[in-house]
This record gives sequence, structure tokens and C-alpha cells, in this order.
Amino acid sequence: MKRKGFLQTAAAVIGSSLLPSLSFAEEGKKKALRFAHLTDIHVKPGLIPETGMAKALQHVQGLKQPIDFIINGGDAIMDALEASKDRTQTQWNLFKNVLQKENSLPVYHTIGNHDVWGWFIKGEKPDNDRLYGKQWVQEILEMKRYYSFTKGRWHFIVLDSTQLNPAGGYIGKLDETQLEWLQQELAAIPADKFICIVSHIPILSICSSLFFDKTETNGDLLIKRNLMHTDFLTLKKIFRKYSTIKLCISGHIHLQDELEYLGIKYYCNGAVSGNWWGGSFQEFAPAYAVMELFDDGSSKRTMMKYQ
Ligand SMILES: [Zn+2]
Repeated sequence: MKRKGFLQTAAAVIGSSLLPSLSFAEEGKKKALRFAHLTDIHVKPGLIPETGMAKALQHVQGLKQPIDFIINGGDAIMDALEASKDRTQTQWNLFKNVLQKENSLPVYHTIGNHDVWGWFIKGEKPDNDRLYGKQWVQEILEMKRYYSFTKGRWHFIVLDSTQLNPAGGYIGKLDETQLEWLQQELAAIPADKFICIVSHIPILSICSSLFFDKTETNGDLLIKRNLMHTDFLTLKKIFRKYSTIKLCISGHIHLQDELEYLGIKYYCNGAVSGNWWGGSFQEFAPAYAVMELFDDGSSKRTMMKYQ
């Protein structure tokens, strides 16, 4: 090839590489709100959990396209449900210290089942202690049990999924007061805002039925009451009244799925701790989600393996 021809070809190649790809052009049209959803960090004393949580936060802040804020999806610490006061204090200190050291972004917290103190302590329950139950997590993370906030065109509603089950254990659902609050909240949101709902336990998820990785002996593939919101049918009816509810995000299951049902996207976003700091859980490596919410109400999730 003659030199002039080569230069022309090279220029053409360079020129074409500068053309925006389709997805880039699409994203350019609709402005994105970007945040990281880190759920099920389950930090506890030890080299792997402590450095793991730090690495995840460093990864978030090193992202090429910066994010606006972080949502902690709950289960910040390994466990307070069955832990002594000292042990719970140690875990909260650790969570707060790593967060303070490794993160400079705003964080919105969600309460996970393992963040609740003392419900399942063996023997005498510390239910006379002011910090019993959900009080401690609310104080230490300076948050309300459920709340909402607005970012640009998007309104976020953060729910408290974990209720004590009189029949034993805990159950995924909203208590009556919270359900009432949710209905009032939804009715008050201006119609030009899109809505993202955050819960620790998935409101709707297929991986909730895959957590135990088994089929029941009678052939059922079960969704247990503590693995998905048992009040889904009630919530569905409420959600049907608001076409502005666009997505629900959750954690809890340590598996990942993404589904769409009746016009709403439901994302279950894995776990920062993976198999509770023992590598992958089933097929899913430790990860967090980068969520992009666009000005037309659409959303995109990218799971990030940070290790
Ligand atoms: Zn959980």
C-alpha cells in the first residue's frame, strides 16, 4: 500500500472508533443517576471480611464513571440476632470504622435481619435493654427504620422487611404501621418523580426459591417466609396504582436475579460477602451492583466483582 493510501485508511479507522456506540448515544440522551448498592456485607473481625469490605468500598470509589451515593442494602454485620452485646458492639465498631476510613460518599442504610439485636439469643433475651431489637441499628447508623429521600427525578423508599414471627424466626413483610406509611408516602409523591423501592428481603425474586439449592421431596420448589416478602400480593395491588414505581432492589439471598413483572423491574443484588466471606455462594462471586436510573424511568444494573 502507498503511504498516502495507508494514511487515509488509518484516518478512517481512527474516525470510526471515535463514533459513539449505540449504547453510549442512548445513555447520552437520558441522564443517569448512578449509585452503588452494596448489600450483605456481613463484616466481622478477621482479615478476609475486614479487607473484603475495604476492597469493595475502594472499588466503588475507583469506578471510571463516578457514582452519586451508596445504598447499604442491610446485613451490614455478620449477626446481631443471636450475638451477645459485646459481640454486637465489636461488629458495629468494625463496620463504622471501615466505612469511615474507606468511604467518602453519602450512604443510605437499610436494616437487614442480621442487624437486629437479640431476638434469637439463647436463654434470657435482653428485651429490657434500650438497644434491643431494631433500636441499636437505627442509633448506630443514624437512620429511621423506614424512610424516603429524593435524588433528581427519582424518589427512593427504603423499607424495613424483617418482622418477628410469633410462630418462630422472622418473616419478610411490612408491619401494619409501615404499610400504612407506605401508602401515604406513595400517594404524596409528585407524579413527575419515578420511584425506586429498597428492601433487604426481596419483594419479588426467583432466587428466593433457589437459596437452598434443592427441590422438596414432594416436588415443590418452595419460597420460604423469611426469603421473600410474604405480603407480595398486597404490595402488588398497591404498586398497580402507581405506574411511576419502576424498580425494587434487594439483597438477603446472596444470589443474583433480575426480573420484570407487571411493568416493574425487581433486582436481587447478590452479596458483598458472597458465601459469607468463603468465596462464591453457589454460582455467584462476592459482588455489588452499580445501578443506573435514567430520566425516562428505565434502569440498568451492572454487577461488579470487586476482588
Ligand atoms: Zn439477610
